[in-house]
Amino acid sequence: MDCRNRQRQLMPAIDKRRLDAMLVTHLPNIRYLCGFTGSAGVLLITDGKSTFFTDGRYREQAGAEVQAAKVVVPKGAILDAAARSVAELKIRNLGLESEHMSLAAEAKLARMLRPQTRLRPTSGVVEAQRMIKDSAEIEHLRAAVRLGSSLFDHAVAAIRPGVSELSVAAELEYAARKAGAEGMSFETIVAAGARSALPHGLATAQPIPRRGFVVLDFGVILGGYCSDMSRTVRVGAPSAEARRLYQAVREAQQAALDAVRPGRAVGEVDGAARSCLRRAGLAKFFTHSTGHGVGLEIHEPPRIARGQPELLRPGMVITIEPGVYVPGSGGVRIEDMAVVTESSCEVLTPTTKELLVV
Ligand code: ZN
Ligand code: ZN
Repeated sequence: MDCRNRQRQLMPAIDKRRLDAMLVTHLPNIRYLCGFTGSAGVLLITDGKSTFFTDGRYREQAGAEVQAAKVVVPKGAILDAAARSVAELKIRNLGLESEHMSLAAEAKLARMLRPQTRLRPTSGVVEAQRMIKDSAEIEHLRAAVRLGSSLFDHAVAAIRPGVSELSVAAELEYAARKAGAEGMSFETIVAAGARSALPHGLATAQPIPRRGFVVLDFGVILGGYCSDMSRTVRVGAPSAEARRLYQAVREAQQAALDAVRPGRAVGEVDGAARSCLRRAGLAKFFTHSTGHGVGLEIHEPPRIARGQPELLRPGMVITIEPGVYVPGSGGVRIEDMAVVTESSCEVLTPTTKELLVV
């Protein structure tokens, strides 16, 4: 991880906003810019020298992890110490991550600073840089996807009528930990039977019925990076209509993957999936967006949704996950992760997309 370079790359974005410094308070951004993986700290980015403030619990960890910034462990509050630094450095325009700072913290900061210092709200400055993954990040994501995909068989082996959704999730998560996952990237979704029509059906105590779809959506964290995949399996022989539903989603997912290439607006990728489902008469059952960026966080820019103008660029790592959800009946979602290449994309998720019947 080349934190110095990442901070250097950020400077034009800071300059463009006419800021003299930026106070980074969002932990994934802090991790990205200086390597700190703990849960308390702020990073003051100034041209040439940055300072990381944390509390006594993290003295040792910060010493070992933090790169390209001086580590300060103040006696009092972290924010007070950061404010003192801002005053000492005579910073006039200080950028704040407005989505990651409470009103109370901002008011406190304003009280501690000299009247000449202006607090400037910013949004998504570091996130914009994080959209493009460097080669080390792509390797981390590859490894996370590989581990995540290896859990699918464990989940499928646990699926049978009468077993609870929670029990399937438990088998999957136990296998994840045993395989070295630092955690799950989000709460595991196991949605069986009529519940498969809930796009965000967290596992419940409900037993898996004799017939129906089971949507599995899960991911692991490895090396700080998240994986994310969905597969839908069938319990009991599928009807012709169930097969048609599955096939339509599979084709829509492939159409969206085929649409991924640098320079294309993400909204067009969403459109590719949507028009495929429209031809199958199923567009009204596709009720969410087609995908999202993924990295240190499970949901990152770009949001691959209807009309979004963001252009795809090499190094973006995204999910492609269309689904159809027929209320009261059932749903299907298929989700892969892919990295945008110089010409198209490389699908990272190796798991089969054939309809598995258990
Ligand atoms: Zn997912
Ligand atoms: Zn996802």
